Amino acid sequence: MAIVKTIYKRLLQSYGPQLWWPAETEFEVMVGAVLTQHTSWTNVEKSITSLNKKNALHIEAIMQMPETELSTLIRPSGFHRVKAKTLISLATLIHEQYDGSVEKLKKLPSNKKRIILLGVKGIGPETADDILLYALNEPCFVIDEYTKRIFKRVGKTPNNGSYNSWQKMLDKEFKGSLNEMREYHALLVVLGKNHCKSDPNCTGCPLVDICVYGSSHMSAS
Ligand code: SF4
Repeated sequence: MAIVKTIYKRLLQSYGPQLWWPAETEFEVMVGAVLTQHTSWTNVEKSITSLNKKNALHIEAIMQMPETELSTLIRPSGFHRVKAKTLISLATLIHEQYDGSVEKLKKLPSNKKRIILLGVKGIGPETADDILLYALNEPCFVIDEYTKRIFKRVGKTPNNGSYNSWQKMLDKEFKGSLNEMREYHALLVVLGKNHCKSDPNCTGCPLVDICVYGSSHMSAS
């Protein structure tokens, strides 16, 4: 079995379904995807709670909110000024071009949706793919630091390190359903947090026998 498929099966068996993304609405997923850039989810939760208290977790509220006020509310997530601009641009785009309807955006062809998201200043490929996968129902691989770190250590890397090369390499071996792709990303994050940290803890890792790094380090110890 191709290793990308094997890893999915192992992780699912070990950790069970993760049922991501933790959010009430698709727009909230989008907000979370922007806020989680370069910060932990705990910090995102603080910002989401502040936005919720202000009843501001919807397109019109974000679009109309003064940038300084939004920036203050999302301060716990870091880079709050930049992220406030991004959120306002995203909300404005959906409001003005898609009648404020995430559903309308969802119905566009996959490529078009990705191009539209990447056109918003502050949204790069990883954030766009988070949004595509968890808010706009597009099965795709999100290439984040956990994904790269785990596959590098396992011994599976693309010819060059670009985002697209990573995505193509993984796509080639695993074409999962929307649910499977959502689970795969979540499971890699769980593995990255539990075992495959910057300083990896390979003992008990569900991939240890198929991982180049893990096998060599465990046999050496
Ligand atoms: S065996 Fe070690 S290096 Fe390999 S995936 Fe697991 S934690 Fe990471």
